[in-house]
Formats: sequence, C-alpha cells, structure tokens
Amino acid sequence: PVVLGVESSCDETGFGIVSEGMLLGQGLASSAAQHAEFGGVVPEIAARAHLEAAVPTLRIALADAGVEAGDITHVAATSGPGLATAVHVGLAAAKSVAWALDVPLYGVHHLAGHAAADTLEHGPLPERSIVLIVSGGHTSILAVGDLVRDPIEHLGDTLDDAAGEAFDKVSRLLGLGYPGGPAISRAAVDGDPGAFTFPRALLRPGDAPFTFSFSGLKTAVARTVEKLERAGDPVPVADIAASFEQAVVDVLVTKALRAVREQDLDTLVIVGGVAANARLRAVAQERCDAAGIALRIPPPRLCTDNGAMIAAVGDLLVRGGADPSGLRIAADPSAVLHGAQLPLPR
Ligand code: ATP
Ligand code: MG
Ligand code: FE
Repeated sequence: PVVLGVESSCDETGFGIVSEGMLLGQGLASSAAQHAEFGGVVPEIAARAHLEAAVPTLRIALADAGVEAGDITHVAATSGPGLATAVHVGLAAAKSVAWALDVPLYGVHHLAGHAAADTLEHGPLPERSIVLIVSGGHTSILAVGDLVRDPIEHLGDTLDDAAGEAFDKVSRLLGLGYPGGPAISRAAVDGDPGAFTFPRALLRPGDAPFTFSFSGLKTAVARTVEKLERAGDPVPVADIAASFEQAVVDVLVTKALRAVREQDLDTLVIVGGVAANARLRAVAQERCDAAGIALRIPPPRLCTDNGAMIAAVGDLLVRGGADPSGLRIAADPSAVLHGAQLPLPR
C-alpha cells in the first residue's frame, strides 16, 4: 500500500505518505502565527487556513515522496478528536482525494496517530508497551498492544489542564507568547530548574497513581509572578520557566515509569507535542537508563501534529486487514480512544 495521511485537527495542516511502515515524504503548513495575537487557536481561522493550505501542502507531500497522486492506494484522515471546524476541512479534503482516485478511506483517531508516529522512526511497537501521550489537549498514560487489533487501555488522564495546555498558559502569563511549549523551552535554557519549588500534584502515596493535575502548578506560577510584581522585584523569567518545566517533567516521568513497572513491561513510548521538549527527553532518558527500561520518543518534528503519523496508522490498518470507513464517515470532535480507528457510521 501507498497510504496518504491527512491531519487537520488543530492548527497544523499535514499530509504524509507512508508505505509498509516507511515514511516516503510529507508536507506541513501551520497557522500558528495567525493565532499568536489571540494567545490560542481560533477555530474559524484554523479552518480557513486548512482550506487554503490543503492543495499546496498535498503537492509538497507528493513531491517530497516522489510519488504521483495516482500511486496512492489508500487515504487515512484524522476524524477526531479536535476542533470540529478544523477536522471537517481535512476530512473533506481526504474524501475528495479518495473519491477522485477511487481508493478506500480510513477515519483515524488523532491520538493513535501520535502513538504511531514513533513507528516511522523506530519500527513496529513491541507486543505491549506504556505510551505517555503529552499534547495540547491530552495527558494520558495508555497500555498499548497491537494498534489495529487490540483495544487501548487507559490507565490515567489529567483531571484538568493537559501538559501542553499548562505550557501554553504559563507562557502567556510570562509574556512569552503562543505556542507556549517552544517559547518556555527557549527561555528555560538559561534558567535554574531548582530556583523555585513548584508543586508536583498527586505524587503522594494514596494518590491516584496514573492521574495528573496541572492547574495547581499553573496557579502557583501565577502567584509567584504576582508576588514579585507587587514587591516591585524583577521577574526572573528564565528561572521560573526552567523550574516550571522541571515540575511538569518530574511528574510525567515519575508516573510513566511507575506504569511500566506495575504492568511488568519494559518499554516506554512518549509521544505528542510536549514530547518535543528537550528537558523531558533528557530526564526520561536518564531515568529509563537507570531503571533498565527502553525509551522510545519520535524526533521532535514527528511529535507535534503532522500528516505522516495519520498515514502511519492508515498503513497499519490496511496491512492489518481493517475495514475502510467509507466516504460517509463524519467528524467526531470529541472521539474517545478505544482503538486506532474510529467506529463506522451506522
Ligand atoms: P491533541 O493532540 O491533544 O489533540 P494538539 O494536537 O493541539 O492536541 P500537539 O500538536 O500534539 O497538540 O502538541 C501541541 C502542544 O505541544 C502545545 O501545547 C505546545 O505548547 C506543546 N509543545 C510543542 N513543543 C513543545 C516543547 N518543545 N516543549 C513543551 N511543549 C511543547
Ligand atoms: Mg499545533
Ligand atoms: Fe495532536
């Protein structure tokens, strides 16, 4: 199979082409700059940007892969979760391509896409592993087997903000802009991660072992900034950014490693936009090495949203013999994660 993947759930328009687990090429456009002045993604602007970027970005992906449109044998598209207006545009584009080429269409769960991104770099996932998804809208610990055949087991989620959302909110209150993850990361390079001791939620014995909470951390950073400003003291942005980052990373890695141990597994996979974070990558590597756990994290450009990860799921579905979704599939903006494919319309 030569599978075209289409991603449009947030502010990235992504097309990727995957064959037999190999990434042949991709095209990626982002409307992030258009949302910057609003401090977050504006759904209507994102949808319009997807509409404008779709055809040029598809052309880039085809050229990058060195394939003709007629070589595509299957199309896969994010059908949820995501911003409804944004998902609709990419799904409609995918339907058009599938109809024009007369090839099958597969609706893909966006989070399964994040998990599958790693297979493009490191090959098939082991029989069973713990996947930590850390992105703009999700923070979950999953037990994952075969992405096509097995249901995905949710061990824990966040009670409030997602990790990426915490980065975005703290960035805004430090005046560092949107998207917050890369901005905080840059600011933190010159900071002391031990300068401030910010709270690590739900790490005490008796707390839900795989549940996260980041809203208290965000509030603690806000209080710290307010107190400094009230006293007329300068705000040490680099130290605050580094200390905040350290607190997030500490909780993420501690709970993910606990899940690997409790499930008696030996592989941790970290995916999603926040997995691009250098401190998270370094701390996770250090603690996995010490614990004898194999760590897999895709390269940063495959951590944030892209079309290649959706094509990777499509390729797995095709080779696993899954039924296509058909052209009637609807967007499911709040899709729950059961498996890689969204249920067929009834
Ligand atoms: P979801 O996948 O949950 O639907 P999303 O698709 O918007 O959400 P992603 O594209 O996976 O999320 O990730 C975007 C998030 O990742 C943003 O919150 C962004 O701030 C964060 N992020 C990106 N790069 C970094 C980084 N280097 N460090 C920390 N966070 C980062
Ligand atoms: Mg984005
Ligand atoms: Fe995402």
